[in-house]
Amino acid sequence: MPELPEVEITARRLDEALRGVVVSSVMVPGLNALRTFDPPVSAVEGKAIASIGRRGKLFLLRFEDGPTAIIHLMSAGRLQLFDKRAGPRDRTSRVLLRLEGEGDRELRLREFGTRQQAWMRLVAAGAEDDDEVVAGLGPEAWPDPPELGALLAPQKARPLHAVLRDQHVIAGIGRSWVDEILWTARLSPFKRAGDLDEDEAAALREAVVGRLGGALEHYEEVVRLPIPDKLPLPLLVHRHEGEPCPRCGTTLEAVHYESYVLAYCPQEQTGGRVLKDRRLSRLLK
Ligand SMILES: [Zn+2]
Repeated sequence: MPELPEVEITARRLDEALRGVVVSSVMVPGLNALRTFDPPVSAVEGKAIASIGRRGKLFLLRFEDGPTAIIHLMSAGRLQLFDKRAGPRDRTSRVLLRLEGEGDRELRLREFGTRQQAWMRLVAAGAEDDDEVVAGLGPEAWPDPPELGALLAPQKARPLHAVLRDQHVIAGIGRSWVDEILWTARLSPFKRAGDLDEDEAAALREAVVGRLGGALEHYEEVVRLPIPDKLPLPLLVHRHEGEPCPRCGTTLEAVHYESYVLAYCPQEQTGGRVLKDRRLSRLLK
């Protein structure tokens, strides 16, 4: 599930490799992935890549004298650079940008699993900020988010775990990093966003910047092209329920939702309370 650090390292690696490289042709095996009519996808053929950057969890692939491709990986997408073209039976292929130059290099928007959610859309150069998804994003979670007490206060009774993942409020954090951030700040996932005092808001901001930045430093050491299918997320709490808390040794607990799991340390985050498992309580109704 690519979040800000995973998208950022991917954008950095692809940008280093592909600036100035011309797209020779575009293939779209996953028609549902293409959310663009004007300009048409053929508008990037013959254009050189000017830069590959990021806004929130979105890629912004800018072309010289051409449009910008906005790409969202959703939960199971990847943007990867390969030396060879994808085979016609590769079921992960969604959008393939074939590149000029040596060999058969290809930039692939791929997606694992059966659901087709990842998407790409072209917008006119300079019009990225007018795109409905980009325009709806909150401030960047990294490297320099605003003061979080004021940012989150209008969210009032919504739990931190939901608010921090709301891209309209703050952009870049998802299900993995929210667990890490709240654990680092020693805050309950269910604390109300409007109830943060000054010290808690400061600790939360420090955790956001520190954990996302720390992940990026880790990726700078270990992530190379073509960008692995599974990035080595340096997670301490998320997906570690049942194991000892790395800080205090208490067994990490989890709340299971339909499509994800929230992990936390009951000793340090919820005053010793083990939260109700939503999955069980639903079954018992
Ligand atoms: Zn702990």
